[in-house]
Amino acid sequence: MSRRDQYLEVLGIDQWRTRSPAPAASVVARPVPVPVPAPVRAVLHQSAAAPAREAANPALWQALREEVSVCTRCELARGRTQTVFGVGDTRAELLVIGEAPGVDEDRQGEPFVGRAGQLLNSMLRAMGHPRETVYIANVLKCRPPGNRDPRPEESASCRPFLQRQLELLRPRLILAVGRIAAQNLLETDTPIGRLRGQVHRFGAGALPLIVTYHPAYLLRSPGEKRKAWIDLKFVRQELARLRQQPLAALS
Ligand code: SF4
Repeated sequence: MSRRDQYLEVLGIDQWRTRSPAPAASVVARPVPVPVPAPVRAVLHQSAAAPAREAANPALWQALREEVSVCTRCELARGRTQTVFGVGDTRAELLVIGEAPGVDEDRQGEPFVGRAGQLLNSMLRAMGHPRETVYIANVLKCRPPGNRDPRPEESASCRPFLQRQLELLRPRLILAVGRIAAQNLLETDTPIGRLRGQVHRFGAGALPLIVTYHPAYLLRSPGEKRKAWIDLKFVRQELARLRQQPLAALS
């Protein structure tokens, strides 16, 4: 069994593949990229002169990290053990955005640890983009008590930090993980099932954004892993396509 198949088995996708003899192409075919609107094409064209992918000044990352670490802009500052800034390759072309730190993340200071984090790692590795090659952050940098959903004012307070991370990272693609992150970033209440399978646009730079399920949800609902795998293949396909284009400007 190949290493990739081993990861797919971890995801619980191996059995599904065995039961479903349909060619892989039919699986990939569902999520058809949406046509890029003219304004977005214009932005992409304007960015042709953008510098080649390279890490932003480490001092800028460090300054932002330190600013976040002492932030008291919202009431979540009072209950946190520490802020959870983000982790990964600062030259990454893929930015994974989750909802908010949970208990484990608050304790360790890193997003997506624990069982959900392990599953996310397997998903990323199966997709061909291991954790160490992407950047991972959350909408919120502090843990909401009792793992409740973020409140609008908390998300609004924290959004500038995510925006500055985006400006430093300049990813080609965002993968929004889970309903809360997807709805928050896209400012919609559309169910996640209807947000999947298409390329959305995020922020002033109209960055491509794809939605998939949160690994914690997949642990509770393993039957949905097949859909998550379709999403990941869509991400891989889109990244390959986007590499042929200049990076979009962020502002
Ligand atoms: S959640 Fe964000 S805005 Fe609120 S205190 Fe933490 S870092 Fe600041």
